Amino acid sequence: MHLSRQTKVLIGALLVALIAGGAFFFAHGKGASEAAMSGDQARYAETPSEATPAPMATASSTAQARVPIVVYHIVRPSYPSDSAAVKALALTPEIFDAEMKYLKDAGYHVVPFSALENYFLKGTPLPSHPIIISFDDGWSDQFTYAFPILEKYRYPATFFVFTNPIGTRGFLTWDNLREMRDAGMTIASHSRSHPFLTKITDPSVLWNEIDGSKQTLEKHLGITVTEFAYPFGQYNDAIVALVKKAGYRAARGDYVQRGGKQSLDQLYELSALNAPTTLDLFKRKFPAVTASDP
Ligand SMILES: [Zn+2]
Repeated sequence: MHLSRQTKVLIGALLVALIAGGAFFFAHGKGASEAAMSGDQARYAETPSEATPAPMATASSTAQARVPIVVYHIVRPSYPSDSAAVKALALTPEIFDAEMKYLKDAGYHVVPFSALENYFLKGTPLPSHPIIISFDDGWSDQFTYAFPILEKYRYPATFFVFTNPIGTRGFLTWDNLREMRDAGMTIASHSRSHPFLTKITDPSVLWNEIDGSKQTLEKHLGITVTEFAYPFGQYNDAIVALVKKAGYRAARGDYVQRGGKQSLDQLYELSALNAPTTLDLFKRKFPAVTASDP
């Protein structure tokens, strides 16, 4: 995707986005807020049905790499009260451990998000069969159950957190995040309040969600935050422009199936997939690397 840097074009795109977003908000705002109040741990999850069609890649940049990005939301023991939406996203710690072990045994190399950015931006080589493991929404279960397993395999995973609920019931605390940071995990932004960014009409609110979340994480953690994940996988050209302006180096988009292929001109709309919830499905998605396929 090509985005003009000219201010006039940017302002024009922003206005169109604001008008369209405003109309959509008035039509659908109530339903969205009701869903957010459901108390369901799946409520912030990015699902394929929410996906935005991604623009076609332009021919100007052909740099490509196969780096699948797997998105985990819920890793914890299953509860009898779990809704169907939660079940579709949740893995027990045992299944998560089995998937992580399988990756190692099957010849994959878990890389941090920065490896993908450095490959495209600096030409830093990637290991063979790289794969990115990411977590969304900052549930405290991720620290309790997934983090020890990631440490066991020494996998550098990326945690996309939205900053407003940090430290509140059910969510990661700043101490959790510091501990994960110190263990080599990447902490990245998933906005402040996890809104539908495409529905926000006030540019200052949009900027606060995108840039403010980055500032908050950097201030509390003493790190530079370079990755953003669009809440619900929703974005448009004006939002991508703000993400670039805020200084992010990459952003995770929606669930467009590109077979894990990433490219330089899609660095701000990287494709991803929700983690398969059984080991069988996971193996089917990520076949073992064979000797003839080094
Ligand atoms: Zn989310």
